[in-house]
Amino acid sequence: MRGDSETSYQDNGGAMATVKWFDGVECAECGFPLLFHEDTSGGRSLFSPAAPLVIRCTNPACRREQDYYGRTHKKFRVERQ
Ligand SMILES: [Zn+2]
Repeated sequence: MRGDSETSYQDNGGAMATVKWFDGVECAECGFPLLFHEDTSGGRSLFSPAAPLVIRCTNPACRREQDYYGRTHKKFRVERQ
């Protein structure tokens, strides 16, 4: 399980940014990214969420709550300085 080729986004060794990967969906109402699971494999593992996958939108102007189970979710790459 060791990833010997995972240097593609880390090869500038002096960078301060930490890259994390999350599984998430986009809000059906406003498109806001809703991250429900941190992917510690660097974006390579397929996460199978349990049902139901009810998520409330974190956009204060929206707050729509919906079951996203069965929908295609995607990987979000988040950089933190
Ligand atoms: Zn929303």
